[in-house]
Amino acid sequence: MKNATFLVVSGPSGVGKKTVITEFLSRTDNVILSVSATTRKPRRNEKNGIDYWFFSHEEFHDKIQQNLFIEWALVGEHYYGTPWSNVEIAKKENKWLLLEIDVQGGLNIMNRFPEDVISIFIVPPTFEDLHTRLQHRGTELEEEIQKRLEIAKVELLYKNQYDFTVENDTPENAAKKMIQILSEEPLCKKKEKSL
Ligand code: 5GP
Repeated sequence: MKNATFLVVSGPSGVGKKTVITEFLSRTDNVILSVSATTRKPRRNEKNGIDYWFFSHEEFHDKIQQNLFIEWALVGEHYYGTPWSNVEIAKKENKWLLLEIDVQGGLNIMNRFPEDVISIFIVPPTFEDLHTRLQHRGTELEEEIQKRLEIAKVELLYKNQYDFTVENDTPENAAKKMIQILSEEPLCKKKEKSL
C-alpha cells in the first residue's frame, strides 16, 4: 500500500502560520489539514474538532498510552499531538496531510519518514515582527508572550533542517510559494537524490 505523504509546516509562534495555511489551503485540493490534539485551553473563536481537539491532561495521557498519536510533544507547558486517524484519512483520500507542528514534532516525522515528507519552515521578516504580532493577537499575556519568544529563538535555530524556508512577508506570497513548492513534486526529487 502507498505510504502517507506529509507536508510538515513549522515556524515560531506569532509568525502567522495559521493565516498562511488557510490561504494555502484555499488554493489547493490536494492537501488536508491535520487537526491536532492539545491540552491548552481554547482561545476565543477556537472550536473543538476544527482548530484542535481539546483534552485534559488525563485524557491526553490516556491517548498516549493507547498509541493514538503518530507524534506528540510538550511545547512550553502544553501537550500537542497528531492523531494517527488523520494519517489514515489522508491515505484513504490520497492527499497530502499538512501537519502544522513544532520543531520537535517536525524533526520526529522527518526522521521517521524521510522519503515521504516535504518540510517547510515559515520565518518572519524580522524577529521583532513576532513580538508585535503576538501583542496584536491579544490572546496571550505578556508573560506567555515572553515564553513564546524564548521558544521561538530556539525554534529558529532548526530552520536549516527543513527542506524549504518561506518568509511570511504577506500570507498571499507565502501561500503562493508553498503552492509552487508542492507543484514541483519535490518528493520525486528527494527519492532520486537518495538513490
Ligand atoms: P498554539 O498554541 O499557538 O496553537 O501552538 C503552539 C505550538 O504547538 C506551535 O508551534 C504549533 O505548531 C505546535 N503544534 C500544534 N499542534 C501540534 C502537534 O500535533 N504536534 C506538535 N509536535 N506540535 C504541535
